[in-house]
Amino acid sequence: MSEVVVENVHKSFGALEVLKGVSLTVERGEVFALIGRSGSGKSTLLRCMNGLEKVNSGRIEIAGHRLEADPKALRRLRTDVGIVFQSYNLFPHLTVGENIMLAPRIVKDVTKAETQAIAREVLQLVGLSEKFDFYPDQLSGGQQQRVAIARSLAMRPKVMLFDEVTSALDPELTEEVLMVMEQLASDGMTMILVTHEMGFARRVATKTVFMHKGTIWEEGPSKGLFANPRTPELRQFVKSDV
Ligand code: ADP
Ligand code: MG
Repeated sequence: MSEVVVENVHKSFGALEVLKGVSLTVERGEVFALIGRSGSGKSTLLRCMNGLEKVNSGRIEIAGHRLEADPKALRRLRTDVGIVFQSYNLFPHLTVGENIMLAPRIVKDVTKAETQAIAREVLQLVGLSEKFDFYPDQLSGGQQQRVAIARSLAMRPKVMLFDEVTSALDPELTEEVLMVMEQLASDGMTMILVTHEMGFARRVATKTVFMHKGTIWEEGPSKGLFANPRTPELRQFVKSDV
């Protein structure tokens, strides 16, 4: 069953056409890696998928929602579609637990005790059970990013979108965040991730999509795509990036 369908999406900022007819389908439980040069449209595509950007034309369906402008529909969609960015943006004056409990308390009809239980559960998933009462500045960057992922998971999303979540982290901190994402993948989460970690994409992503100049230039099962790039553009990219 398809969890994400993107069909012929066009998106421009003023005169600049950033997405030039992008289509892709992600089945439930699949992990897609989005790779490509800076400026190729990867972030814009992700942002369109949870309504942070409005498409000019084309169709997006995700986690059972048709993407539309109605704010109520968008809020419902966003409880099912989590997105995590490079900057984790935790509230510094709230503890880890409070950061995680915030959105479910507002959006979902649950008691404080229930949200607390959810927060403890998702913190355990990212390996930070003992940090519930800590403040963000008492954690490393990698730990803060894992809290940001936990915060997203607390909404019980059906699809997770990750936009270069390890790009700001040192290599040793990158690893712990990738491990959390790998665990999520093996637990069956449907995921689309923009990443520069080619080894991770090759190993964890079922499919890899190479974006170039606002189009999907090449896509396929990750191992084959990295081993045998068909286009000179992807060959060049793989060579320069690894
Ligand atoms: P990537 O994530 O692959 O680096 P982006 O999707 O961020 O690419 O950007 C694609 C192009 O769209 C770039 O040329 C970028 O400058 C432009 N762009 C992205 N967001 C905006 C915006 N809000 N307004 C104007 N131009 C934008
Ligand atoms: Mg980007």
